[in-house]
Parts: sequence; structure tokens; C-alpha cells
Amino acid sequence: MSETPQFPTGSVLGYPRIGPRRELKKAIEAFWAGRSTADEVEATAAQLRRRTRDRLVELGLPKDAPAIPSAFSFYDHVLDASAVVGAIPARFADLVGEDGSLDLAGYSTVARGRGDDLPLEMTKWFDTNYHYLVPEIGPETEFRYVGTRPVAEFVEALADGVLTRPVIVGPVTYLALAKATEGAPKDFAPIDRLPDLLPVYADLLQDLAAAGATWVQLEEPALVSESIEVPVERLLAATVEAYRALATELARPQRPAIFVAAPYGDLGAALPVLAATDVEAIGLDLVKGSVPTEAVPGLENKTLVAGVIDGHNIWRADLDAKLQVLEQLEVLGAGAVTVGTSTSLFHVPHDTADEPGLDPALKSWLAFADQKVVEVVTLAEGLSEGREAIHEQLLAATDAVTSRRGAPGVVRPEVRERTAALTDDAFQRGDFDERKIAQAARLDLPPLPTTTIGSFPQTPEIRKARAAHGKGELTDEQYVEEMKAEIRRVVELQERIGLDVLVHGEPERNDMVQYFAENLDGFAVTRNGWVQSYGSRCTRPSILWGDVSRPKPITVDWTTYTQSLTDKPVKGMLTGPVTILAWSFVRDDQPLRETANQVGLALRDEIADLEAAGIAVIQVDEPALRELLPLREADHADYLDWSVRSFRLATSGVRSDTQIHTHLCYSEFGQIMGAIDGLDADVTSIEAARSKMEILGDIAAAGYPRAVGPGVYDIHSPRVPSEEEVTELLTDAVKAIAVDQLWVNPDCGLKTRRYEEVTPSLERILAATRTVRATL
Ligand code: GLN
Ligand code: ZN
Repeated sequence: MSETPQFPTGSVLGYPRIGPRRELKKAIEAFWAGRSTADEVEATAAQLRRRTRDRLVELGLPKDAPAIPSAFSFYDHVLDASAVVGAIPARFADLVGEDGSLDLAGYSTVARGRGDDLPLEMTKWFDTNYHYLVPEIGPETEFRYVGTRPVAEFVEALADGVLTRPVIVGPVTYLALAKATEGAPKDFAPIDRLPDLLPVYADLLQDLAAAGATWVQLEEPALVSESIEVPVERLLAATVEAYRALATELARPQRPAIFVAAPYGDLGAALPVLAATDVEAIGLDLVKGSVPTEAVPGLENKTLVAGVIDGHNIWRADLDAKLQVLEQLEVLGAGAVTVGTSTSLFHVPHDTADEPGLDPALKSWLAFADQKVVEVVTLAEGLSEGREAIHEQLLAATDAVTSRRGAPGVVRPEVRERTAALTDDAFQRGDFDERKIAQAARLDLPPLPTTTIGSFPQTPEIRKARAAHGKGELTDEQYVEEMKAEIRRVVELQERIGLDVLVHGEPERNDMVQYFAENLDGFAVTRNGWVQSYGSRCTRPSILWGDVSRPKPITVDWTTYTQSLTDKPVKGMLTGPVTILAWSFVRDDQPLRETANQVGLALRDEIADLEAAGIAVIQVDEPALRELLPLREADHADYLDWSVRSFRLATSGVRSDTQIHTHLCYSEFGQIMGAIDGLDADVTSIEAARSKMEILGDIAAAGYPRAVGPGVYDIHSPRVPSEEEVTELLTDAVKAIAVDQLWVNPDCGLKTRRYEEVTPSLERILAATRTVRATL
């Protein structure tokens, strides 16, 4: 064995890929639209990669030690791993070249689908708002090393004088996140294929070594999670097997030194297992994970990459506290301790300097990706040269933390007094049976009442009006008039189609969280703070920095205006506290429970005003309830307690005859059935069209007493369902659960669809509902 090359003293796990002005998004979308060539996209991507390298060097990472990750992706890093190991589903076989490679067009097709060939399924990446493409692995999947991209990108950087560290999803996580192909036997699990996959990874490692790579980063976040299907023992056994093959049996210098990174949580029992393998470095997430306090056998000949800088949130670090954590790690007995980020930095925006509109005080408390790189470099210097060497930076960081703590708006006594004074009855509505009778009397709805989830198509005209209003080309009054005209159209359409509970269509909302952030105290919004959500899609999370309250009503005028246009009940539409937290960057200086209650109270005020204005039905959306569920089971109870309570706090102030709806989007309820019951909403709408109402059986079996609206129209696809299809779904639904518990609605909001699809779909839903009503 040759001597292990040194791991850099400071390093980041990854960096934003989309570009400071979303250059990659624009380039690849132009390619999809046929407005540019693959070569042009490649050129933009190469420029972006070069910009990233130059920037990271400028911020203080060395060129000649592999501190700079080579972690680019055109769409998704899990899809990239599928491309490297040749695991492209059979329905796309015609796109794969003879050497196993996919060109950019083929790669895009696998990601986005074509005609009846569905794309790879997309799902959440751990507890983040990033979505990856799920590999499909069966007993027959032929793994094959198709090595070009990671090696080519390493070589490209080297030619530029930068020795990078290629990053790829590790073999255990790759298979743990995969799903079995459709025809696979019931007892098959993708992880069974590990022995066949490992030689492909070995080929990749050898190829990288031959190209000159000294270190490679294999990402194994599956090891921190209990939310994936593979049982823990199986995962640990797979880890031993994988790294025996890749680290022990494949000796250096045939391969680069291996750095296994485990972001998003605590390695727990996997740490001693990994430490006992022959990998050369292990990365710990010391923001979400706990700081180990005892020596771990096996670490003495490894580098510990201490992820002390938070890659998943945007607050400037208390460098002094972080340095103390680093110093504590000595007891672990690792061969070396170096400084890293807890996760890749692609969950945060590029640069706070790019936000001229942000309040300077707030800005001084923030660290986006570039500021985090500097924090890592500073701590690395402190660790190797001693605290005095970074004395000034430590003081400046402490000052920022102190100034944040005492700044106006961060702690507001009037908000604190309200949350502190809350008693149990603020979280409690009256008896459901009574509510049911009171609501039936007030609303007088037919059986199988029909409604939508809230938004109607966001037309180019709406977007144009919003942009013009933003630029000051439309006055407030003109903008409001345009939105009201849109609301009138949406109401007329719903009345013509015959829906029972109407909505205003949400034309005034850019985004279901940002809209509320702009109207509540304690939030700020960014101009360029984009982060990748999936593929070319980005979101701009709001910043929840201070105590939250509602200065004035937000939705009341829009909702009462809508109600004035119709005799049918109009449903008020709000975003729930958990979703507001999940899709924002949230303050890290107090428990989420307190922050959630503050948001809950602000919404409670809004709901009280809607009720007082005569609105009889109010929906509070919580599509992110499942998303924030902690990766470790031990943490579930506390999360479900505060999240459910904050929703109840928002919704429990109403009279019995005011009907509360919630909407949860997705269809995987197994782990949170109890929480859904806990929300105590009168009506819960869920996604169900693709899974053909399966969930209803479980809901009925659980004895769930309240109403549900299983989606009968899959809004994720441009397809218009047939009337027969919807009739069949509803017929099944009526068999699965009591008729008086059933509502009829689409899977989700309609904002991403076009009227050409939405109008006939809703018409067919109504026709099918009438048919099924006639059989009751
Ligand atoms: N009310 C929102 C809408 O209809 C809900 C969106 C969501 O569930 N993500 O668009
Ligand atoms: Zn939804």
C-alpha cells in the first residue's frame, strides 16, 4: 500500500450547480425548447464549472490539494450515477449508445419522459426540498461502467491547474435509494445487486486514479437515515461488503484515497462500522448529527472531515463555538481532523453580496455558499495555526451573533407573551360530531361535494401583470383590478362547471410560501437566492429571521370579494405553519416549536378575520408535513407533536360551523397517519389518482372519522382523464369508505396546468360525480 495523500485541512462537500444567475437552468431549458444545441449547453456548463473553481480558489481553497469538489450535474446527481453504472431502464434502451453512454438529449429524456415512457420517478432527497430521480433496478439490470463524465470533468479541471475531488453517490446509498423494476419478484430488493454493482465502482475508481485523482468522495447519506426501506442491519452489512471490495481488495495506488461523506444526520451505529473499513476519510454531519465523545476504534488511521459549517441553512456560524467543537473531536483519536460542511452547499444560494435589497444588518448575520467557504477556510486555519491566527475573524463572528441576538424584531415581547400564555384549549376544537352537524346545516352541500385544491392556471397574463406591478409599471390599483378580473373569470368558470365549493384561484400569489412571507413580520425575501429544487427548477426560499406576527389581514379582501360574486361557499386559502417553515430558511436560534407557534398564531388571526367576514370554509395547506419528518425514528414523536400542534393552534379558534380543510399533496401516509388524525381537520384532500384510491382502504380500516378528498385527477401530467376513468375511481371510493366522508377534487392545485387541460378535466369530474351520485 502506498502512503495516503493528505486530505486538505478545509474543504466543502459540494457547491451550487445552477449558477448565480441560474445560467444552467436557462441553457438547458433553451436546449429542451430547441433554441440551442447540445454543444452550446456543454460550453455554458464548462464555463460554470470553471467559474466555480476560480471562485473557490479566490475564496481560499487550495488548487493543488483536492479541496474543491468536482460535483457538477446537468439535472440530478443520482441520475448521473445511473448513467455512470449504465442502469438506464429498458424503455429508454434506444437512447443508449453502443459504449453505454447517454448524450445530453438522451439523458434529458430519461429525466423528463417522452410520450408513454414515463420518466424516472422523482422523490425527496433526505429531509431536504431537493428531489432526485429514483433508479430502477431489477434482477436483470446489467451494470456496466460508462465512465466518461466524472473522469472528463476531473481532467478538465486538472488541465486548468486545479486538482479536484470527484464526487459520486456511493454504491450503498445508490441501491438503497433505488426501487425495484416493475416485473421484479416480490422478495427482490435492489440492494441484493450490490455484488454486481461493486465491480463497476471499482472500474470508476481505477479510471479516476489513472487520470490522476488523489481522492474521491463517495456520498453515503443512506447511512444516517431510518426512513429508507432497507433495514439497518442490511445497510450496515452492505457497507462492510462495499468498502471491503472498494477499499481493501482494491489497493492504492490503483484507486484514489476514499472519502465517505455522510451528510443529513447522525451516523450512529454506522460510524464504528465505517471506521472499521479501510476507507481513508469519513465525513460527519456535526450540525444535524451529534458530536461523538468517545474514541472510535479504526479512526486512528483515518481523516475525520468534521462537518461543522451548516450546508443546509444560511446563518453565519459562531466560529468560536465551532472551533471548540473541532477541538473536542481530539478525544475521538482520529488520525487527523479537518474542517468541512455538514452537507453540500447546493442547498443554499451563492453569495450574500448578490442581495443589495436586503437590510444590511440582516445581511451581516447571513452566510450563503461563498461566505461558508470562507468560514471553512478560516476554521481550518484556526485549527492548524491556533486560535490566535484567526483572532479577528472569531471576534467578528461573535459580534454578528451578538448583534443578531439583540436586534430589533428578533425577539418581540408582545409575540413572546402570546406564545407563552397559550393553554391547551387554544389547540382544541369542539367535538367532531357536533361540528359535522353544524357544518352540514350551514353549507347544505350535496353528497360527494366537489371542490378544487385552490390554484387555477397561472396564465402568461397573470405573470406579466405581476412582473409589471413589481417594476412599478402597474399601480397597486391597476394590479388589484387585473387580479379581480381574473377572479371573476375563475368564479364564472367554476359556476358554469357546477363545482360546489369555490376558490378564488390564487392569481395574486407568486408562491404559496413567499406570498405569506411578504405579508408577515419577521420574514425577508431575496432577489437572487435561488436553490435547486429538481432538474432545472429552483425555488427562492424566504428568510424567517425574527419573531413572526401579522401586521394586517392578508387574504381577507380577496376572499370576501370572491364570495361577493357567488352564492356558493367560497373556500379561504392559507399555507400552514409547517409548510411555511419547511420552505423557508428558518432562524436557528430557538426551537422550531416556538417559531411554528408564532406562525400558527399569525394564521389563527387571519382565520378569525376570514370567519368574521362570513367565510364558512377555510383550507390550510400542509403539503410539507411529511417532508420535515426526521430521518431517525427516535426524533419522530417530538416533530409530530410540535408540527401537529402548530396546525391546531392555527385552526382551533373557529366556531363549530366553520369547516377547516387541509391539503397534503402526496400519498405516502404510512408513517404519519396518526399525525393526520391529530390535525383534526374536517376535510383532508390527498393525492390518490395514480395510486387508484388505494389509500382509502387504509383510512377506513384505521377508523378515521372525518372527511377525505382523494384526488381523482392527476395534475402532474398534461393528460385529461376520461369521464369513465373518473367514474371508476369514484365508484371504488364509495365502496372503500362511507359516502358522507367523501369529497371529490383533483390531486393538487392547478397552477402549473393550462386551461385547455383544466376545463375539460373539471367538466368530466363533475359529470362522473353526477353519475355516481345517481347510484347512491
Ligand atoms: N393551495 C395550493 C394550490 O392549489 C396548494 C399547493 C400544494 O399543495 N403544493 O396551488
Ligand atoms: Zn398539493
